[in-house]
Amino acid sequence: MTIPAADYIRAIAPYQPGMPISELARRYGLDESSIVKLASNENPFGMPEGARAAAIACLAEGARYPDGNGFDLKQALSAVFDVPPDWITLGNGSNDILEIAARALLHPGVSAVYSAHAFAVYPLATQASGARSIVVPARRYGHDLDAMAAAIAPDTRVVFIANPNNPTGTFVPAGRIEAFLDRVPKDVVVVLDEAYNEYLDEADRFDSTRWLAGRPNLLVSRTFSKAYGLASLRVGYGLAQPELTDLLNRVRQPFNVSTPALVAAEAALADRDFVARARANNRSELDRLEGEFRTMGIEFLPSFGNFSLLRVGDAAAVYEGLLRAGVIVRPVAGYGLPEWLRVSVGLPAENDRFLAALRPLVGR
Ligand SMILES: *Cc1c(COP(=O)(O)O)cnc(C)c1O
Repeated sequence: MTIPAADYIRAIAPYQPGMPISELARRYGLDESSIVKLASNENPFGMPEGARAAAIACLAEGARYPDGNGFDLKQALSAVFDVPPDWITLGNGSNDILEIAARALLHPGVSAVYSAHAFAVYPLATQASGARSIVVPARRYGHDLDAMAAAIAPDTRVVFIANPNNPTGTFVPAGRIEAFLDRVPKDVVVVLDEAYNEYLDEADRFDSTRWLAGRPNLLVSRTFSKAYGLASLRVGYGLAQPELTDLLNRVRQPFNVSTPALVAAEAALADRDFVARARANNRSELDRLEGEFRTMGIEFLPSFGNFSLLRVGDAAAVYEGLLRAGVIVRPVAGYGLPEWLRVSVGLPAENDRFLAALRPLVGR
């Protein structure tokens, strides 16, 4: 039997997540506690304590559906970002926000624009909608916004931008994003995916939410999965003017964010120290990793996220060697980067384990 499915669904290459710790433990008979996972840009500090307590406490009400409108979390986000609650869409991770935007705006016969080496969910969400992908060549591995603006076609409905980008770690400064927004036709929605915004240094960070007021075609996407340490709970949010937010709300699953996720996100948002600690560790450990790569003569891309992309040559062999040493990193051949590996910034001891395992594999 052949199950009927559209050709554009059959053409999708499924997302390849970082290997779970339990899978590597099974594969080589390793003790899970001995494994270092630096494969999914998770927060090495774990969850904020208050978020953990809130999530556990709410399980007593586990038989009840969550608040489908996420009233309390939207109130909290509204206060932090100074946007009204009806400008906010909550998602099952920010991945959900990207997919909701694609479902609301894309369909066969229209197109989406995104960069080569950009986040894998842009092609996935575009393909699943049946829309055409316009993939713009990268400039030194980062977004070439001039080329992206020029690539917008009459049928383009969405442009996806990751800033900083994953997996390349590249970053486009505020002035260039703003100039790009001014060039984009008003009927093309720009999805500005800022999953790593909280990791930016003070000097680079800018408040993209203030661009929302004059731009009904802008959707800013953020997540609690990275700097806030809630990757497993799945909660992200989109900020946009009410007309676009209303469209997104029409295709959103009614209960797309669980109660543990809602209450944990609210607690995490209030814990400014946690994010500051994660940012400080990231800054010093990223500097250290990049210094070590330089010493080893390994090419890398200077990163604005909580990960580094390094060129190791035979990436499949180095990946496998690291696995055998109990260290999980991320192959990125699927991003058109077959010689590179992406490693997330961990705690100092985790990074030490990674560096010690890496040295003999690259002949240092
Ligand atoms: C991790 C990541 C996301 C989404 O993660 P969620 O867990 O779904 O919030 C979105 N964009 C980029 C660029 C990412 O790296």
